[in-house]
Amino acid sequence: MAEPTHPTKQDSRGPRTASGSASRHMRPFDSAPKAELHVHMFGAIPPAILLELAQRNRVDLPADILAGFRAGFQFRDFDRFSEVLRTLRPCVQTAEDLELITYELGRELARQHVRYAELMVTPMGLELRGIRFPASLETMNRARARVRTDFGLELRWIFDFNRSVPDEAECRYWADYSTEVAIAGLDAGVVALGLSGAEDGNPPEQFAPWFERARAAGLHSVPHAGEHAGPESVWGAISALGAERIAHGVRAGEDPALVAHLAEHRIPLDVCPTSNVCLGVYQSPAAHPLPRLHRAGVPVTVNSDNPTMFGVTLNDEIAGLSTELGLDEAAVSEIIANGFRFGFEAEAVCASA
Ligand SMILES: [Zn+2]
Repeated sequence: MAEPTHPTKQDSRGPRTASGSASRHMRPFDSAPKAELHVHMFGAIPPAILLELAQRNRVDLPADILAGFRAGFQFRDFDRFSEVLRTLRPCVQTAEDLELITYELGRELARQHVRYAELMVTPMGLELRGIRFPASLETMNRARARVRTDFGLELRWIFDFNRSVPDEAECRYWADYSTEVAIAGLDAGVVALGLSGAEDGNPPEQFAPWFERARAAGLHSVPHAGEHAGPESVWGAISALGAERIAHGVRAGEDPALVAHLAEHRIPLDVCPTSNVCLGVYQSPAAHPLPRLHRAGVPVTVNSDNPTMFGVTLNDEIAGLSTELGLDEAAVSEIIANGFRFGFEAEAVCASA
């Protein structure tokens, strides 16, 4: 069953609206232009839109999920988190549903003054539910164009695949499929290939051939690593997958040589502090290594990962940099600027301004 949101977080950030976002006084960086580089589209669907889709597609959501929307979920581990996401998947059934989700997520991001975002999408998950490529990308791009016109927000796609498909042949099939559709989407807003799913038992090295193919075709590489697995996972993502940014990567902090390497080669970590605490990577914000990584010269961006699931917004994450992680204003400004500096096509924001 869902339990109340972590009390410390709730207290420090004030009351939340039904959508899980904070509605109260403006905080120092709430209206600053910002970029969001690590957000999964399916973990970011505004709750009201999920409920609308559940009704439209006749999906009975269990009581604990509905309670989670109201009070916030509290996850004990990655497995429970994955289970909740699986329960929500049937809410999305058609390419038109994707258009609605993209547009409404764009509206929410723009409300937080996000000007550029790379949204992570898992095409194999869509295909498995009969939402076929390229129809899926076409409707997403229809919304992407409307988001640009209506909200002045530039969206790009990171297509990822799940590394934890147990059957080896099936895993290879989906890696092939995902790489092909990502390459096919190169001229339609897809900027990178990503790798998601459980890190344990699925090290980056296993996926080198697909990332090599994607990079040769012109895609960037931004795998998840160093979240539930240690620094070896980040080393593997860099050496075997040519990672240009690391999704999470926070456990790099356990290896001083890796910290020095990330700083020297300017390889950014797309960090999501609330996600790390919700999924038990760190016990509390005070234990989070982001300030230490930043001070060591590692480029860091701050992001929301699965904001609906964690009852957080990007603006909450940025406010937390000072209130929970103790960074000063200059450091927060620098981290916000990194989002534009390291967004693969963030220069499009300047071009459209
Ligand atoms: Zn993620």
